[in-house]
Amino acid sequence: MPMTALDIFKLLPKKNCGECGVPTCLAFAMMLANKQAELTKCPYVSPDVVEQLESSASPPMRTVKVGDIEIGGETELFRHEKKFFNQTAYALIIEDDLDDQSIVERAKKLDAMKYERIGIVSGVDLIGVKAKGDAQRFSDAVTLVNDNSGLPLVLMSEDPEVVESGLKVVSKSKPLIYAGSTNNCASMAKLAKEYACPLALYADDIDELVSLSEVAKSEGIEDIVLDLNLGAKPLRQTLEWLTILRRLSVKKLFRPLGFPVMINLDNGADVETQAIRAAIGTLKYTSLIIFKDLDPARLYPLTTLRTNIYTDPQALIQVNPGLYEIGKPNRNSPVIVTSNFSLTYFTVASDIEASKVPAHLLVVDTEGLSVMTAFAADKFTPEKIAETLTEYKVADKVDHRKLIIPGMIAMLKMKLEELTGWEVIVGVKDSSALPKYLKELSNG
Ligand code: SF4
Repeated sequence: MPMTALDIFKLLPKKNCGECGVPTCLAFAMMLANKQAELTKCPYVSPDVVEQLESSASPPMRTVKVGDIEIGGETELFRHEKKFFNQTAYALIIEDDLDDQSIVERAKKLDAMKYERIGIVSGVDLIGVKAKGDAQRFSDAVTLVNDNSGLPLVLMSEDPEVVESGLKVVSKSKPLIYAGSTNNCASMAKLAKEYACPLALYADDIDELVSLSEVAKSEGIEDIVLDLNLGAKPLRQTLEWLTILRRLSVKKLFRPLGFPVMINLDNGADVETQAIRAAIGTLKYTSLIIFKDLDPARLYPLTTLRTNIYTDPQALIQVNPGLYEIGKPNRNSPVIVTSNFSLTYFTVASDIEASKVPAHLLVVDTEGLSVMTAFAADKFTPEKIAETLTEYKVADKVDHRKLIIPGMIAMLKMKLEELTGWEVIVGVKDSSALPKYLKELSNG
């Protein structure tokens, strides 16, 4: 039976010194009970208490840092139960048998593979440098990639000597060592310890993976990533194993598997199913996916899927209220009102851009709700719009007194005119009609 916050509190030192990052031992006990903190953050817990608390008070899945990217640290099977914390990271491979110029070009290209959607920038997160030759070539390739990209690295080789040649170049930026297997686990673990870098463990079956994890832990390695060779298994089996691994870590608290899980699609996955495998991995519990290569046109929907899965379902995505300039509006440009729900804002803003008619976009604080939801919840009222108009001094920015409101809230027109003295124009019901509407408006 898991310990309650009060049970844990009784065992803590009760100094209330705040060194664990929260002001009191009780607050720390609550975080431990919720698996949101690690016991090691308190330097004063005695070893016997550590032993007593370890199984019930440490997070079910360790958060592992590769460069500046955090993976793992998940506590739930289903996103709606709380949220997922660290989104699936995507890595693309550069092989070291390319010539130097090609390595430089590819590193720069991967670094620049980024997209912006509803204000969130997404793209490739890491580069896997894969050894095909000797230690010297690997070290040269790692240097070239590191000099031409700001992305964290995965050092991919089965040979500890080759991996070490890369670690000598980039260990400070904490690359992931890929991978320790039955053939080399002890040597790879030694390197991970010496260079203080995370270690991926690779096995084809679960018992083997558990023993590798135990070996690595006995060598003092805490930052582990698990690869059960799911990149090459039939899709159904992949999904089943991903679910089993997540259940064993977060529900059964099975410590040898309490680490983030990865899929390497360079391990035999055929190109046709890569995107499907990556989508399954993103939906179900994979913290890191390595691609041999990936068409940017496939990366875009994957990153969109990822954003959807890893957005906190309890926090509405919103933009700051205010007066935004879309294009280069002047004193005669239209003023358009909308809500501060991110998706609404970015949709309206891009439809205005598409019209090529510069405009002022007045974003009202609707607490992150969309136009109709906010209206129904009494958060998009004439009073609120009038206050926003005054707060952001819109009258000082334009010579006219015309306000375009969304067609869906046409019923606010009269009251809003009364409150503001502005002429209120009922605009389009759907933002997709804005380009045509604005063009016609500007043509008089
Ligand atoms: Fe209490 Fe330890 Fe946190 Fe200090 S560091 S407040 S003793 S739990």
